[in-house]
Amino acid sequence: MAGELKGRRALVTGVSRGIGAAIASRLARQGADVAITYVGNREAADRVVGALGPRGAAIQADAADAEAVRRDVDEAASRLGGLDVLVHNAGVAGIAPIGSADAAMFDRHFAVNVEAVFAGTTAALPHMPDGGRIILIGSVNAHTMPWQGGAIYGATKAAVAALARGWARDLGPRGILVNVVQPGPIDTDMNPADDCDAARMMTGLTALGRYGRPEESPPWWSSWRESAPPT
Ligand code: NDP
Repeated sequence: MAGELKGRRALVTGVSRGIGAAIASRLARQGADVAITYVGNREAADRVVGALGPRGAAIQADAADAEAVRRDVDEAASRLGGLDVLVHNAGVAGIAPIGSADAAMFDRHFAVNVEAVFAGTTAALPHMPDGGRIILIGSVNAHTMPWQGGAIYGATKAAVAALARGWARDLGPRGILVNVVQPGPIDTDMNPADDCDAARMMTGLTALGRYGRPEESPPWWSSWRESAPPT
């Protein structure tokens, strides 16, 4: 797998820690030049970039701001000379049952988890050659919600899945593959596998009887096959 992605240029969003950091490092190990975004944690983002190789780049961009997302995509494409892979990973997950959830929470979740995905994809397409890859990090909560207060988060991830299905149709003629990955519980700052009721409940729902780890992210691109459009 090492070297499989040599010459490919990738942007991964939300990469100062967690799943995004593992994805970026996996892409870099496979030879890709990788740019990442973060929102506030500069020190952590710099640490991730330091391990990405000479062409690694960290760009500060708040995914809640669609204009900033468009700028960060343009900047990444300009630094890397184009974009072959775009991974939408940045996300927020709040818990608030109906009655306590307010409009600000709703808007923020849809801004970061959905609108940024739309803004980033539309900005990336002019920089992406035919045969590129777009990966959206959804969640199993698009389809299942075993606890109270997760409706808004689940709704954003259902929207992400619908975008992936629609864009796969739209971009298939260009040979661009669009996939949504829907993880179960993964041990990160967002969802730590702590000794608490919530973590025990989620662990009980898993087939393996444990949380996943970020570095267990599946190798979606371990074999890059050309997917040029039909001629
Ligand atoms: P973490 O909270 O551990 O990390 C989130 C990352 O996203 C950080 O790098 C953070 O940057 C960045 N981020 C947060 N808000 C913004 C923003 N407004 N703009 C730009 N970047 C932002 O999350 P995970 O690694 O657990 O989650 C990553 C993705 O995986 C999310 O989309 C999440 O919904 C999804 N997911 C997670 C699961 C889990 O159990 N952990 C399960 C299923 C899906 P900074 O450090 O600068 O704040």
